[in-house]
Amino acid sequence: MQFVSTRRPSEQVSFKEALLRGLAPDGGLYVPTAIPSLPPDTWELAESFADLARRILTPWLEEEIAPAALDGILRQALDFPVPTVKVGEIFVLELFHGPTLSFKDYGARTMARLMNHFCTDEQLTILVATSGDTGSAVADGFAGQPNLRVAVLYPSGQVSPLQEKQLTVKRPGVRTFAVEGTFDDCQAMVKSLLTSPGDLRLSAANSINVGRLLPQMLYYFWACARRDWHQPVICVPCGNLGNLTAGVLAHLSGLPVGQFLAAHNANDGFPRFLAQSGVGFRDSVRTLSNAMDVGRPSNFERLQWLLGDTGLRALICGHSVSDATTLESMRRVYEAHGYIADPHTAVALEAVQSVHAPVLVLATAHPAKFADTVQRALGRAAPSAAALEGLRRMPYRVTPMKATARALRNNLRGWA
Ligand SMILES: *Cc1c(COP(=O)(O)O)cnc(C)c1O
Repeated sequence: MQFVSTRRPSEQVSFKEALLRGLAPDGGLYVPTAIPSLPPDTWELAESFADLARRILTPWLEEEIAPAALDGILRQALDFPVPTVKVGEIFVLELFHGPTLSFKDYGARTMARLMNHFCTDEQLTILVATSGDTGSAVADGFAGQPNLRVAVLYPSGQVSPLQEKQLTVKRPGVRTFAVEGTFDDCQAMVKSLLTSPGDLRLSAANSINVGRLLPQMLYYFWACARRDWHQPVICVPCGNLGNLTAGVLAHLSGLPVGQFLAAHNANDGFPRFLAQSGVGFRDSVRTLSNAMDVGRPSNFERLQWLLGDTGLRALICGHSVSDATTLESMRRVYEAHGYIADPHTAVALEAVQSVHAPVLVLATAHPAKFADTVQRALGRAAPSAAALEGLRRMPYRVTPMKATARALRNNLRGWA
């Protein structure tokens, strides 16, 4: 399987190369030159999630990873439950049962092990800019891999106290930086260093990396393998559009989807693009669903490459939900069905309100991660999660940093 940059499609690279580079040297994102066709009989009968993962990813990776190695990586990375629950008429796929309680665990854990597999004798520094959940999933997924180290950048004061704890827990091979700027600044700093790394050996672990994208296709197949519905509408809570891009890849390789619904908070550049209204992408604004606070989603470029503007508008509908409506959505769903949704999932549950076809909503975070918002919306405590209880007793480490590429470079140079 070969990959090319969205900007210079003439230069083909292997999966390994695309994985280790993260961003293409010309600043573009890697996309596959061809997409394997996966008819239902290749994945419908999977016996477990890891078995499904092997069936789906083998055609993508068989030229570069031996079957037994791939099987081992997938079994270790994807060792947590992936339940679908019914909330009224809506099917909710809970993607938050991994160690850091968000769907980011799928991509991060798989990608860490794939990189470790390929990186046997050279130390690589992984850069990750996070608006919340990515950083802890990546830090957790990559910690302790001998040939990798991770620098996590997050916008200081713009993640929840709990997210901050999860991000700054001391982990082997991980440094966390609190950047005096926005998430978009963090992302720009990472992009800048990746495009001109100098003497540093760098890679990225945001949703721009193909190594995170491929495993995120898996749960789309999993949800559809377990249901006899036909062509559901799949609603995805969106920020940087990585999750949605993975769904589109799944669709292009044969997953029967009626339509995707891209659910956004007030950062509504993509819904406005789809509706052909408004002024394009803008700086991000802060919301209750802060992991979706992305003003200029990186994966937009990839989606355009995969489908073109017309194709995007045919397959995907957009929807934007305000904070006030997000709180109402949490209340409405709890009162009607006793289901406690986190604010990100609540944005999606709101977006599907007027859809009548069979609907699948991706639930991207555990409500315990957003206990304050749950308390505010429902007047009751969020359910607890064992993975968070232990955090209180753990040591922390965080370094403040100016929002410039130079500050980042200096910090990385000084990291002995
Ligand atoms: C990252 C994240 C999102 C947005 O996913 P993208 O792939 O960036 O679009 C949604 N919900 C939660 C909880 C997240 O952590």
